[in-house]
Amino acid sequence: MRVAIIGSGPAGFYAAEALLKRTDAVVHVDMFDRLPTPFGLVRGGVAPDHQRMKTITRAYEKTASHPSFRFLGNVCFGRDLSVEDLRRHYHQIVYAMGNEADRRLGIPGEGITRCTPSSVFVGWYNGHPDYKDARIDLSVSAVAVIGHGNVGVDTTRLLLRSAEELAATDIAGHALAALRQSRIRDVFLIGRGGPEDATFTPKELGELGHLEDVDIIVEADDLAAAAVVANPEGSKAEQNLHILQSYAARPLANRAKRLHLRFWTSPSEVIADSAGGVAALMLNRNNRQAAPERLPVGMVLTAIGFAGNPIPGVPFDEKLRLIANDDGRVVAGPDRRPVGGEYVVGWARTGPQGLIGSHKAASAHVVNHMMVDGAGLEQRPVPEPEAIISLLQERETQIVSLDDWRRLDEVETARGERRGAPRDKIVDVEAMLRILGG
Ligand SMILES: Cc1cc2nc3c(=O)[nH]c(=O)nc-3n(C[C@H](O)[C@H](O)[C@H](O)COP(=O)(O)OP(=O)(O)OC[C@H]3O[C@@H](n4cnc5c(N)ncnc54)[C@H](O)[C@@H]3O)c2cc1C
Repeated sequence: MRVAIIGSGPAGFYAAEALLKRTDAVVHVDMFDRLPTPFGLVRGGVAPDHQRMKTITRAYEKTASHPSFRFLGNVCFGRDLSVEDLRRHYHQIVYAMGNEADRRLGIPGEGITRCTPSSVFVGWYNGHPDYKDARIDLSVSAVAVIGHGNVGVDTTRLLLRSAEELAATDIAGHALAALRQSRIRDVFLIGRGGPEDATFTPKELGELGHLEDVDIIVEADDLAAAAVVANPEGSKAEQNLHILQSYAARPLANRAKRLHLRFWTSPSEVIADSAGGVAALMLNRNNRQAAPERLPVGMVLTAIGFAGNPIPGVPFDEKLRLIANDDGRVVAGPDRRPVGGEYVVGWARTGPQGLIGSHKAASAHVVNHMMVDGAGLEQRPVPEPEAIISLLQERETQIVSLDDWRRLDEVETARGERRGAPRDKIVDVEAMLRILGG
């Protein structure tokens, strides 16, 4: 059975692992990624000060070493390859493209200079090629981060962490240089609900308490309102509340930077200065009557979730903004009939929920469907494995193979050694292809 997996993030790799471990079928996997580098958000999303989390890629490297696995990087599905190409060359297809679009606030002023989705900021500090030229201006003194999820917390932490601590990580060189010059003093982490509604995890919230030289300001009112809500002992909400109470109890020590944790607050408008950049954020209080507040900040980063991008020929659920599916089987039409031979895993299937580890069982579950549905499918003749390579070459796509990636990996690791870091990423696709002789 020849299977194409589109996307080399955790969900794609766990699907490959489950397919290659099957004893009831002989499976050959071709994994495509639009970037020359594998691992999706493990490389481009997970924060640089979470290096231990990034070592999960060793497990993916092991899967990639399987003789029936090929990596075809720098191949963009929807541009270099169509659905029809995949249907012709493979018996089954697994979509694992993640969620590359941002959810928007939908308020006036959103999108003006220095009002940016946090995915741009995250991609910029993580050296994602799409964001290498993002204009991130850290000369402002105050920033508002909107969204009480882990991405909001990562964004906040990176804004407040000292550049010295980040130098020993795989943070992009341009971001490290900019953070060294940062003038940010105040970061407001703003969410529309109470502490019990926040989706950030106690681990991430707790990390904020260990930032050097940062005072944390929590409004006692917000916590008092939350305390009356019955929360089961040991729940995430309860743990978060305890951490927040410990922050509120800490004496302020006139530290160099301040983190303001704001609950029950929604932005209603981004106000521009005369040059068209962010001057302030208008805020409304959600749990009591209060006059709108004008918060003077020079930058706004939104972290309110992600969605999928539609690809021609792949059924898309406009309401959920995901590939239309029923338990991982791609479905089409008003009666949501299975397309047959097409599956979806990871964030492309569910939206942005779940940590990396959760994809292992979830992708294996979808692979079970593939095996049940796919019995006998391998009888259908498909072109030789080399035919897809020839097709891409005809289209002048420079395919990045697994060996090519390993060369890039060596170059990045050697560059990193010079800075005392695990790697110094190459952030430009053209530069990567030049190193590989393209
Ligand atoms: C900022 C941030 C920080 C996070 N930190 C953590 C953390 O510390 N710990 C944790 O457990 N989880 C963390 N997560 C969650 C974790 O990253 C996700 O659960 C996981 O990466 C989702 O896996 P995926 O394979 O579905 O998607 P992704 O990891 O997004 O992978 C999708 C892949 O598809 C490729 N692709 C997209 N479109 C195309 C196309 N058209 N053609 C070819 N390839 C394509 C992309 O280049 C990418 O490589 C974080 C998420 C974010 C956003």
